[in-house]
Amino acid sequence: MSRRRSKKAGVSAIGILIVLAGLIAAALHWETWEDLIPKEASVDFPGLSGKAQVYFLDVGQGDSELIRLPGEDGDSFDILIDAGTRSTKTELSDVLKELGVEDIEVMIGTHPHEDHIGGMAQILNDFPVDVLYLPQTSDSMTPTTKTYESLLDAAEENNVPIKAGKAGEKILEKDDVTFTILSPSHEEYSNLNDYSIVTRLTVGETAFLFQGDAEADVEEEILSNGYDLSCDVIKLGHHGSSTSSSKAYIEAASPSAAVISCGEGNEYGHPHEEILELLKEEGITVYRTDTQQTLLAETDGKKIQWTTGLASPWKNAS
Ligand SMILES: [Zn+2]
Repeated sequence: MSRRRSKKAGVSAIGILIVLAGLIAAALHWETWEDLIPKEASVDFPGLSGKAQVYFLDVGQGDSELIRLPGEDGDSFDILIDAGTRSTKTELSDVLKELGVEDIEVMIGTHPHEDHIGGMAQILNDFPVDVLYLPQTSDSMTPTTKTYESLLDAAEENNVPIKAGKAGEKILEKDDVTFTILSPSHEEYSNLNDYSIVTRLTVGETAFLFQGDAEADVEEEILSNGYDLSCDVIKLGHHGSSTSSSKAYIEAASPSAAVISCGEGNEYGHPHEEILELLKEEGITVYRTDTQQTLLAETDGKKIQWTTGLASPWKNAS
């Protein structure tokens, strides 16, 4: 209980900081939200148990992954990467509640496309969120869509600080768990997909890569930056499109399993045939949300156990 109370106090202190920063920014005519970010927005949590559950939520043609890290005190550290489209926002929120998520310590909007951030305003309204990571885009690439504007409004209304996700930041480093940003490494990409916040989670000896919609040129950049890419599971970039998952990158990551998050019969033809061929050649097991619904990968720090075919309630909604 005391942790909860102190957390609330922390959140309202952050809220006051945001309001103050907002007033100063307005006075100085600052234009980007990055100027409003409190510097102390990093997260804190009691010890972690060295286990994790990673859900690849079936949100149709979109992305949403939930990482649950159980704490030693029975609470859990929850990370939500993307929140699907607007059309599944209520169902996604209900699924998180059913899974027992009470608050979200870290939320990441990999990049501002509707199939990744469409459901995010709803999540901000329904759950306490400690910090929201978004990529910092160049002025010309900053979206003016209603979805993006509603997301920023929801963060402001709920006093959730926004942080720019930048390559090299360790969002979490606790016990035998790390969660690190591998990309973006600058703010001048010409394609919104390439701004994707790419992350790597390690739990003991196991590792997961989350690619957002990052395309092959970004994969090349991550490779040349020399990051450790080795993983057991990769959430493939861009829904299994051939614009991502270059052979060099997949071989460097060397996963035993790849997850493709895409909608049944989607109009883009995701996943693309050549990617499925490459995964077959490399002997990588494929998991897909379009044919296997919501997927769960559980790790004890040594090995990973899979459950497929978990409920996707919106498919039954009429
Ligand atoms: Zn996408």
